[in-house]
Amino acid sequence: MQDKDSEPLYLEKIKGMRFFDPHVHMTSRTTDDYQAMADAGVAAIIEPAFWLGQPRTGVDTFRDYYSSLIGWERFRASQFGIRHYCTIGLNSKEANNEGLAEEVMEILPLFIYKEGVVGVGEIGFDDQTALEEKYYRAQLELAKEANLPVQIHTPHRDKKRGTRRSMDIALEHGLDPGMVIVDHNNEETVKEVLDRGFWAAFTIYPFTKMGNERMVAVVKQYGSKNIMVNSAADWGISDPLAVPKTAALMKDQGITDSDIRLVTYQNAITAFGQSGQINEAEFAADADIDQSQRFEGSSVLRGGQQPRIDKRSAIIR
Ligand SMILES: [Zn+2]
Repeated sequence: MQDKDSEPLYLEKIKGMRFFDPHVHMTSRTTDDYQAMADAGVAAIIEPAFWLGQPRTGVDTFRDYYSSLIGWERFRASQFGIRHYCTIGLNSKEANNEGLAEEVMEILPLFIYKEGVVGVGEIGFDDQTALEEKYYRAQLELAKEANLPVQIHTPHRDKKRGTRRSMDIALEHGLDPGMVIVDHNNEETVKEVLDRGFWAAFTIYPFTKMGNERMVAVVKQYGSKNIMVNSAADWGISDPLAVPKTAALMKDQGITDSDIRLVTYQNAITAFGQSGQINEAEFAADADIDQSQRFEGSSVLRGGQQPRIDKRSAIIR
């Protein structure tokens, strides 16, 4: 743990920088995380609809989950000065329950046109089954019709083939690669994704897969064009501060400020901004934070707590 009166060293290196984390599952995280992200300069985030760790048994839980992404969770983020966007979709794992998947497909159009929805996602392959392909294709059509960007989850097993197949299918459906963000890349997939004109997103997982060091090496080799970094923090071992921490490491290792800004902020805004939903002017100024606000009667404050009134962390010390 950090000494309570001093800020972590990396915060010093990125002071004044602003970050956009285009993939983070805040539903699974605490208010401490929101506070720490705000303190580290995270101005805005995208929360993709995903797999909650165990299979859902009915369409109503999808409905409530999607509603929370455009409602409660967006409100909760605003209470820490963070602008919250989301992508809406049927995740690949649950595409394998065909009966339920059909019902979910029916309600998706009720959500993808809502305010703050910046894409269809995260969709794609997990085990690369026929049903996953069926609902991936159906959702590509939905995105095309709505003229929304697509956020693709690439499989962790057999990644190279799954990534290629995801791109092939997107092109088959007539999607512009500039509207498709291919996520969870690694050194094996990045070249092909960039060469074909897609956006290449990288998830920084602590201890495994893409670590910060490897990410810095990718940017040194491929530059900053069409590349973006995210945390994909969720209910597993993950780090909601992965984006600012990677920026600090990039700075340490001589990546220019303008390249850091592109991969940790601007590229994600350019890509998902094609939804017409992202307005940087809305990224909250501190003055906008009022923690005494309520969302349908609910507040982030608990009995006796005072609303946050200054920029210092509200975490109890
Ligand atoms: Zn995810």
